[in-house]
Amino acid sequence: MNFIEFAKHYPDEASCKALVKSYREKEGVVCRHCGCLEHYWNTGVDAFDCKQCGTRTTLKSGTVMESSKLPFQYWIYAIYLVTMTKKSISALELQRQLGHKRYEPVWAMLHKIRAVMGQRDSKYMLDGVIELDDAFYKTHKDEESNGEQKRGRGSKTQTKVLVMSKIDPKRGRPKKHRKSSAFRFVRMIVIPDSSASTMNREAKGKLNPQATVKTDGWKGFNQLKQIVNKHKSQVVPPKEASKVLPWVHTMIANTKRNFLGIHHNIKDVYLQNYLDEFCYKTNRRYFGENLFDRLMVAAVDNTWYGKFSYE
Ligand SMILES: [Zn+2]
Repeated sequence: MNFIEFAKHYPDEASCKALVKSYREKEGVVCRHCGCLEHYWNTGVDAFDCKQCGTRTTLKSGTVMESSKLPFQYWIYAIYLVTMTKKSISALELQRQLGHKRYEPVWAMLHKIRAVMGQRDSKYMLDGVIELDDAFYKTHKDEESNGEQKRGRGSKTQTKVLVMSKIDPKRGRPKKHRKSSAFRFVRMIVIPDSSASTMNREAKGKLNPQATVKTDGWKGFNQLKQIVNKHKSQVVPPKEASKVLPWVHTMIANTKRNFLGIHHNIKDVYLQNYLDEFCYKTNRRYFGENLFDRLMVAAVDNTWYGKFSYE
């Protein structure tokens, strides 16, 4: 659905609310009190009442929208824009587009949507041949004083990220204008340091034990053999690294360019969410219009009770 069609289908709060209701009915509402899946729709209060115990589930509760005061229409349009834009959208830009007075709720909404994306990809285990490397991202420290979030940027820092790309070894290295490439799937995970124990802890459970992992010669990678079948490490000068691990380096370069152009002053504690959005969209680059549907399904799937510390 292009934007004009979308706007025609969902012109107001009522139509967006109806869309959320239809997704919840399709995915099933789970009573948080007794686990019952059967509910009556209570028209008077716009909520589901459990057939067993009567516990009420509002349209938003249990979903990513839980405890949000923003209208359904904001959420629907935000999910649409996030999925239909090739790169990303900043909170400031979205705030302008929605015409909302305050920045913070829009910012929080976008981060929650990114968290949904991250949760989906966290279920995926990488197998086959995987390129693995670490990277540094320029971020700002999230400095808190007296429990209150300090305004402004915070001091500059570097945040380390573990990057893993599943590749198809039968296909060649990336070339310009070449459509089918070796790249399959990417995961990026913020890590506290590049030590071998951290690498193994973070990669374990995300890599299939049967996988083959390719890295450079960094000593932090030298214990990967404990968690995967095969580890091929190649000592290369930094300038040559992109030849040995072309896809992780392409992904790192793409995220950095993306962040620089769209999001300014990314705080270290939120970097994971931005990476999650990038990975989710990159991993579903052939989904096209289905991406909106997939993200809506994930956003209403009952798993979001009390998940967010920020509103
Ligand atoms: Zn119940």
